[in-house]
Amino acid sequence: MNKVCAVFGGSRGIGKAVAQLMARKGYRVAIIARNLEVAKATAGELGGDHLAFGCDVAKEHDVQNTFREMEKHLGQVNFLVNAAGVNRDSLLVRTESEDIVSQLHTNLLGSMLTCKAAMRTMIQQQGGSIVNIGSIVGLKGNSGQTVYSAGKAGLVGFSRALAKEVARKKIRVNVVAPGFIHTDMTKHLKEEHLKQNIPLGRFGETIDVAHAVVFLLESPYITGHVLVVDGGLQLTI
Ligand code: NDP
Repeated sequence: MNKVCAVFGGSRGIGKAVAQLMARKGYRVAIIARNLEVAKATAGELGGDHLAFGCDVAKEHDVQNTFREMEKHLGQVNFLVNAAGVNRDSLLVRTESEDIVSQLHTNLLGSMLTCKAAMRTMIQQQGGSIVNIGSIVGLKGNSGQTVYSAGKAGLVGFSRALAKEVARKKIRVNVVAPGFIHTDMTKHLKEEHLKQNIPLGRFGETIDVAHAVVFLLESPYITGHVLVVDGGLQLTI
């Protein structure tokens, strides 16, 4: 199978689990992150024909360059996963404007830039599938996460609009919205306390999210959907 899957934020956490699952299914995977060494190590763990690329999704020339390199070394991108994200919890009144801008650049603008870069190829090949990683807080909001929630809510609006815009070109765009998942991003949280609100009684694992992402990537008749993967947390908040 020669289809290519680009995973932005694929070097660690949720993106890494998606990359592993897609590689196991026989797709060629591009692992993309700012830290090229870590991305290379992850690509190496997958074995086979998978490659790593260094890129900051917040920078348009980086993103365009990465798409050019991916096409040169792996071929045209069929699947795109946007898992690159950062989270700096703070109350809005204590958040510096520069922090607002830099979070939105990575969490929202970054996905817009990668989707835009992917469109050229996907329109040309009349097909493609994109999954953007949102968050349950983008749907529900969370105190101390106004900027993060706004970015993730924006991603839902963006993804649904793009899904409408490109459906006739057989390009699908969906969102997976996770709850609390065990990754570097959540390791500072007080799990014992937080998991009391989760009906399934635990934080999720990256593989729990990866299965949902791969399901949407491969589902030919689903577009504009937001799939929540949160152990039932949305039922309680
Ligand atoms: P991690 O911190 O474990 O991994 C983040 C990944 O994104 C890394 O590969 C990191 O690599 C990359 N990354 C971060 N900033 C950039 C950037 N500017 N350009 C390119 N790559 C970047 O996070 P998670 O796996 O937990 O999160 C993945 C996604 O899921 C994020 O969008 C996050 O918001 C979302 N999410 C996570 C939840 C959780 O509970 N963990 C819950 C809900 C949503 P590098 O640092 O080298 O660039």
